Amino acid sequence: MRAWVLRDYGALALEERPVPQGPGLLLRVVATGLCGSDLGVFKGTPAMRARWHPPLVLGHEVAGVVEEGPEGLLGQVVAVHPAIPCGTCPFCRRGKPHLCPERVHLGFHLPGGLAQWIRIPEGQVYPLPRGLPPWKGALAEPLAVVLHGARLGQPEPGEEALVLGGGALGGLAAWLLGRWGLRVSLREPNPARAEVLRRLGLVEEVWEGPPPEGGFPLVLDTVGLEATLPQALRACAPGGRVVVLGLGGVEAPLALQDLVLREKAVQGSYLFTPEEFAEAVSLLEDLPEALVRRWPAAEAQEAFTALAQGQVPEPKLVLEW
Ligand SMILES: [Zn+2]
Ligand SMILES: [Zn+2]
Repeated sequence: MRAWVLRDYGALALEERPVPQGPGLLLRVVATGLCGSDLGVFKGTPAMRARWHPPLVLGHEVAGVVEEGPEGLLGQVVAVHPAIPCGTCPFCRRGKPHLCPERVHLGFHLPGGLAQWIRIPEGQVYPLPRGLPPWKGALAEPLAVVLHGARLGQPEPGEEALVLGGGALGGLAAWLLGRWGLRVSLREPNPARAEVLRRLGLVEEVWEGPPPEGGFPLVLDTVGLEATLPQALRACAPGGRVVVLGLGGVEAPLALQDLVLREKAVQGSYLFTPEEFAEAVSLLEDLPEALVRRWPAAEAQEAFTALAQGQVPEPKLVLEW
């Protein structure tokens, strides 16, 4: 089979590899979403260099067709939950498998979906609703990330929310919060991407410069850089909540006066529960396709480069095999 192997930071190579053998389901990959974390590894950002080292087959946002497995699943188009928990630790037993310290990630610990086939335990796949375009299954993972993070922010209908970043997580968060009845604004410095988000009509306002300060009860930081956490905290209203879903950097300063004197809460958010993944799958049908740029998987190197250079105005990029 063909697989894109990250040979070094910035260097992908299309290579012939054996189809993965062993236990679990064999999936023929249909579509693979590119994530901020994939891009971070590709670029070799300090946050990602600290955790992951080439050679790697990236790709954890995967839709595929079951080609080997139990009778009932054969031929099914499924979305893949990419984090495999141990199932026995206290976190797993308390219904928080996303915090399992032993969990293993497709596309990082295991060869991922930038390949024609993957192998994955049976419990990690979720059949797509009938009639859904198969490539949309690759959006289940980032949508589940956003569902989890938005819930941690305890959103209330009618409330003003600010989303920092108009990439995949930001675009999906804007859509989801709007669906839940919040009034959403977004900050996105890339003018072309800001324009796409304005045209989609998901948000009340898109700021290319710094957003107004102190007015938002809920702020989602989907970027997670040294510069964005202070911005999120400043934009947050007294008594409000900041949820950090992005992990672009390693450290960020916290303005203690603002945090304490105005009782602002800062909450980190990572992954999602299996229930949230299933919920994300059920929401895919309504997700606007205009959020997504579809790109042939044979040209993955070009896709990564275009993303790294900020040349993809759509919030989300999905490779199709
Ligand atoms: Zn992802
Ligand atoms: Zn565990």
